[in-house]
Amino acid sequence: MPDLYQLRDFLPDDRTAALVTSETNRRYLCGFPASAGAVAVTKNRFILAVDFRYFEAAQKTVQPPFEVVRCTRLIDDLNRIFLQENIQSVYIEDESVTVAYCNELQEALIPQVLTEGLSAKLNEMRLIKSPEEVEKITAAQRITERAYTEVLNILKPGVTERKIAVELEHLIKVYGGERVAFDLICITGENTSLPHGVPGDRVVKEGDFFTFDIGAVFDGYHSDMTRTVAVGSATDEMHMIYDTVLQAHLKAARAIIAGNTAAQVDIAARDHIDSCGYGEYFGHSTGHGVGLSIHEAPTVYKTNHTVLRDNMVITDEPGIYLPGKFGVRIEDMFLVKGDNPVDLAEIPKDFMII
Ligand code: ZN
Ligand code: ZN
Repeated sequence: MPDLYQLRDFLPDDRTAALVTSETNRRYLCGFPASAGAVAVTKNRFILAVDFRYFEAAQKTVQPPFEVVRCTRLIDDLNRIFLQENIQSVYIEDESVTVAYCNELQEALIPQVLTEGLSAKLNEMRLIKSPEEVEKITAAQRITERAYTEVLNILKPGVTERKIAVELEHLIKVYGGERVAFDLICITGENTSLPHGVPGDRVVKEGDFFTFDIGAVFDGYHSDMTRTVAVGSATDEMHMIYDTVLQAHLKAARAIIAGNTAAQVDIAARDHIDSCGYGEYFGHSTGHGVGLSIHEAPTVYKTNHTVLRDNMVITDEPGIYLPGKFGVRIEDMFLVKGDNPVDLAEIPKDFMII
């Protein structure tokens, strides 16, 4: 369970509440997955409001300090709670509430609606992972690795990108993944120069690269890994670009130290790629946080000066993309631990010819 008191402390006084409606943040706070409902936090109470579909299951699983309230018309029930508690203003999630829902809340809620600060606070709380969260991210990664290792057996000239992607998705589910963490990127040949290429009918050929950017979801938590492998044979240029990306990845990994900034990690990778003359072919950030969302804070980019702290999970994923030729990306998730980041992936990163 997250440190809920951080959220309570965010409230300036006992007449202010926080209303969390996004599915991900509701799940983060109370641990209960539900497609609808709300979490309301005051100085005195932590409330999960759900309708009859979820009430019984929530009562069984949601732990104190949360109390579960059965609601029939969410906004009316929230108003009743806020009146009981003498709440005069309510923070809502400015990053996830739509304009339409915001208007509805402003009209229908009795307390004044506050639209600044709650999302930032929740993002900040989610930066630091509990041991249970790290376990779930690692479990998602192990599922991906098992599926990846097995799918390499069918990676041969003649197979399509689509076949590999479908097989991986199937195996991720067989091995216990709730679902894939995002639309899997399984691309080959010239397509590998597209950082977010979509798998299609392109056929694997001898001498091509194949890029896997893949992940699973386990108990709500995501994993993210990229491997680029050569099929059959590889040119000197492929070896050289691969090695440049690998060195950039390793340099960034060495910068994943508590007290460093996210920017320092990005710059470690970017400077290496720049110094090798490929800076213009590395157009994305070096990484991002991973957790209940596949992309969450912090963005690992040169302009983000978020200080890394123990138990953050970030990716390290530099790449070089040569248009019309090929691209290489290598990505692992790392757990920040003092001076010794923990690589959450167990799949080797050496150049591999399948
Ligand atoms: Zn990825
Ligand atoms: Zn990623």
